[in-house]
Amino acid sequence: MSASEQASETLPLPSSAAPSQAVAGSELSIDLGALAENYRFLANQNSDVACSAVIKADAYGLGVEQAAQTLWDAGCTTFFVALPQEGARARAALPTATIYVLNGLFGEECAAFYHSHTLRPVIGSLAELEDWQTYCTKVGEKLPCALHFDTGMNRLGMGMAEAEKLSRSLGETDENGTILDDCTVSLVMSHLACADEPYHSLNTQQLDRFRAIRALFPDCPASLANSAGIFLGPDYHFDLMRPGIALYGGQAVGNHPNPMKPVVTLTSRILDIRYVPKDQSVSYGAAQVTKRESRVGILSAGYADGYLRSAGSTDSKTGAHVWLKGYSAPIIGRVTMDLIMVDLTDLPNGLAKRGMKVELFGPNIAIDDVAASAGTIGYELLTSLGARALRHYLPA
Ligand SMILES: *Cc1c(COP(=O)(O)O)cnc(C)c1O
Repeated sequence: MSASEQASETLPLPSSAAPSQAVAGSELSIDLGALAENYRFLANQNSDVACSAVIKADAYGLGVEQAAQTLWDAGCTTFFVALPQEGARARAALPTATIYVLNGLFGEECAAFYHSHTLRPVIGSLAELEDWQTYCTKVGEKLPCALHFDTGMNRLGMGMAEAEKLSRSLGETDENGTILDDCTVSLVMSHLACADEPYHSLNTQQLDRFRAIRALFPDCPASLANSAGIFLGPDYHFDLMRPGIALYGGQAVGNHPNPMKPVVTLTSRILDIRYVPKDQSVSYGAAQVTKRESRVGILSAGYADGYLRSAGSTDSKTGAHVWLKGYSAPIIGRVTMDLIMVDLTDLPNGLAKRGMKVELFGPNIAIDDVAASAGTIGYELLTSLGARALRHYLPA
């Protein structure tokens, strides 16, 4: 028997064991009450219009089962995911919800998967529509789908010419939507490219184009607004609002106070506190040199926990900050895989102690500020959150 085989017989396998609080380097706390509150806040932006929830990418990294159940309990009945597999997970959590899959059908063979999980594809091309209709004919059911039109994003979606062509084949409308040959159109939608910049001229251009398309499908419910689009006002709301990031506490609109409640908090433990003399470098690459004798805290979290490496600090670029006991402290040096160094020199002596928990983001350090320090957006930070931190869900 080899040494490694012997080891696996005698040692517990760490990958299968959930860490307990005593041995967790970092902890991720997800406030489902705040998620529910954020949903109600967004839904209340227009009480005449339904509000769905976008729960793609594991509900932006938060955990799709917990998020879906919380949002359903808060009154949400329509959900969007990106991929069919995400749809199947959402369906298992929500037996009766309406679930749309944004990336649509990859081919006709994919349609049976949608049908068996009662998922609705968001269809972005005539070829895809043909696949869906072929499947619908085969099973003899006019199954529902959404039609996605591109109004300026130049990503997925059909154009005006296709909208005109399709509108000529529309049949009767029932409670599921409008019949289109062999299937049913339950939603027409488009997606805004610049809603986070309220004065960008593309917003009104996209609105005008979507109105023209919508007029061709007069009896179909219509949806345009993502989180930021909701804050552009009622012209953008149509029949169904479609927020993602704002539900999870992220900043939807740039240069604007964020009205959402923080949902996600990442904390990490101080492993050690040490003194580093003046003119010494800290961390890999010697990228930051101390300007004074410094008290440096070593935190048990790194980019393997989903904290972005680019949020680190160098002599030429200030990095993100962390929070402990009412004080913010800057990162010093590069973020490493498992450890982050922070400069505690300006904190009262003795305040920071070994073993203490430090907030990397949460109620005091906005995810969007950390993301900005890393040159990215809160979306990327949230969806990068790894499986290594110990997760807690605070009940709604
Ligand atoms: C991701 C996505 C949304 C949600 O966008 P947020 O900016 O997170 O609110 C809405 N619609 C589509 C088509 C999307 O891809």
